[in-house]
Amino acid sequence: MNDLPRLPTSGGCRDEPILKQRGQREVFCGLTGIIWLHRKMQDAFFLVIGSRTCAHLLQSAAGVMIFAEPRFGTAILEETDLAGLADAQTELDKVVDQLLARRTDIRQLFLVGSCPSEVIKLDLSRAAERMTEKYAPSVRVLNFSGSGIETTFTQGEDACLASMVPVLPETNERQLLLVGALPDVVEEQAVSLLTQMGIGPVRVLPAPRADSDLSVGTETVFALTQPFLGDTHAELERRGARHIAAPFPFGEEGTTAWLRMIADEFGVDDATFERVTAAPRARARKAIAQASVSLRGKSVFFFPDSQLEIPLARFLTRECGMQAIEVGAPFIHKGIIGPDLDMLAQGPVLSEGQDVDLQLDRCRAARPDLTVCGLGLANPLEAEGLSTKWAIELVFTPVHFYEQAGDLAGLFSRPLRRDDLLQLGVR
Ligand code: SF4
Repeated sequence: MNDLPRLPTSGGCRDEPILKQRGQREVFCGLTGIIWLHRKMQDAFFLVIGSRTCAHLLQSAAGVMIFAEPRFGTAILEETDLAGLADAQTELDKVVDQLLARRTDIRQLFLVGSCPSEVIKLDLSRAAERMTEKYAPSVRVLNFSGSGIETTFTQGEDACLASMVPVLPETNERQLLLVGALPDVVEEQAVSLLTQMGIGPVRVLPAPRADSDLSVGTETVFALTQPFLGDTHAELERRGARHIAAPFPFGEEGTTAWLRMIADEFGVDDATFERVTAAPRARARKAIAQASVSLRGKSVFFFPDSQLEIPLARFLTRECGMQAIEVGAPFIHKGIIGPDLDMLAQGPVLSEGQDVDLQLDRCRAARPDLTVCGLGLANPLEAEGLSTKWAIELVFTPVHFYEQAGDLAGLFSRPLRRDDLLQLGVR
């Protein structure tokens, strides 16, 4: 039982200096989150109040033409709205009336702010309150911002989940709340591991339907499954729930440490923990060992994008044998990411925020074997001979917990293997 992980108390990066820079940034906006959120919340509709650019972003990020009734759309702000000539609130009421009359399956409506709606200071919280009064109890109307002004793309999910917490019913029940949108199959694996240890009831935010038994209170403890949920974390604490701080469940080690922290909270003994986790841990280790062969000894440089950077750097350095040169993250919230920082060995530059030109200079000087970055930087860097991995893929792909640990390593090794094959072809 000696290999059951306990968190290191020193030697990590938690207290290392952080390079903070602000300047031009290269990130997607929070509207992107709608692509995975609308699949999780099956009776929700996301109405973006935005421009044609926002509509195009959603359509191309969705990656498919939608033939069935979609569960997101854009109320386009026209020039008369932007010039203040039309009453945008009245226009919005009309659009929502039409939508809800036609789509009687909608139980949750999210009014999603964008850069244009923020620029004209359209008050969507007022609109959501007014519409909730009108449509309750059959439809709950909430609002959040997906604007790209000073935000990054995973903040859309955070803003959405944070908007739901204040309206959750109160409970005195002792319960575990898992927070973060995961693919269904991955969520089922997590809940199954926890229930096999006797932990429960386990509930998940976001729930698939508005009429779920989701509630919150002072007897609620919560574990985040995604590291980008700072605002949701704050809202849950405001409701009296307590956070179980843990490394994030990426890789065998991260998953075991995450489960261990929750198991300790619920008094699970070592023998039970071992019985439930031994087999999937062994599978994960084997899969990582196979998938990480081409990663061993290679260097990696993270540009700030998904907010997954620090847990992934921990996984790649500790479980895949890589060396991190720089780990950039849009925000470093030590209350959330601290346990991962504790496990990340000192050495890489830790950077928060971005001045993209300065960071590109550092990356070019370092010539890493692999650069993890947004789509906008990947192509130019590839043209300069650097191998890249798109950060956004890490959010769209199932990568959490034991059964996906090999796939996670594989996502990083694929670009290196591709480059090796291309070079062989050249010779
Ligand atoms: Fe562009 Fe802003 Fe619309 Fe996002 S919210 S698509 S950044 S205009």
